[in-house]
Amino acid sequence: MRVLIIEDEYSLADVLRAILKKENYTVDISTDGQDGLYQALTGIYDAIILDVMLPEMNGFEVLEAIRKEGIKTPVLMLTAKSELDDKVKGLDYGADDYMTKPFQTKELLARLRAVTRRKGEIENNILDFGDLQLNTNLGEISCTATGKSMKLGAKEFQLLEFMLKHKNQIVTKEQIVEKLWGLESDSEYNNAEVYVSFTRKKIKFIGSKVTIKAVRGLGYTLEENK
Ligand code: CA
Repeated sequence: MRVLIIEDEYSLADVLRAILKKENYTVDISTDGQDGLYQALTGIYDAIILDVMLPEMNGFEVLEAIRKEGIKTPVLMLTAKSELDDKVKGLDYGADDYMTKPFQTKELLARLRAVTRRKGEIENNILDFGDLQLNTNLGEISCTATGKSMKLGAKEFQLLEFMLKHKNQIVTKEQIVEKLWGLESDSEYNNAEVYVSFTRKKIKFIGSKVTIKAVRGLGYTLEENK
């Protein structure tokens, strides 16, 4: 699970990162609203922890912009204020849950699990495109035309899941690298190419007409051969 923390209090952001890393979350931090929004719009996160009082753009503005762009990542809002007004406002703007500072670590983790689970339940565990299906619980692809199926490796799964969630769009190599290895990784674009190639072979192996098409200079998109 990859979590984005948008919080301008460095010490709090650092503590949150340490706590989440211990629970095996991958964490990126953004310390102002504008940069946070920019990172959130990559769509690579499984959850966002969003502070309300932020420089550049406040948390409500960030949240509104994220939802306007159709990004459905679960958002857990944080605020120093405990006023009901803020809470109602956050939920109105599309936050999934709300926490008041200071909070207990245990409570934060429980709420984070709850918002990500809730989202997972709403989403179907089958993602599809053409005759290709990905079962996100099993990590397995299958072809509705041939009935064949196959397990994917962890990176292949993350890649294909990301592409199926952005079907009919072009996914850039940069997005793939960020999703699979994280923003701070030294992974090169050719690593993305390697996993695209592995995944392509498996899709072909099960007899699907779907392929991961390279769009020159831009990235990749899913395409179904007729
Ligand atoms: Ca703040």
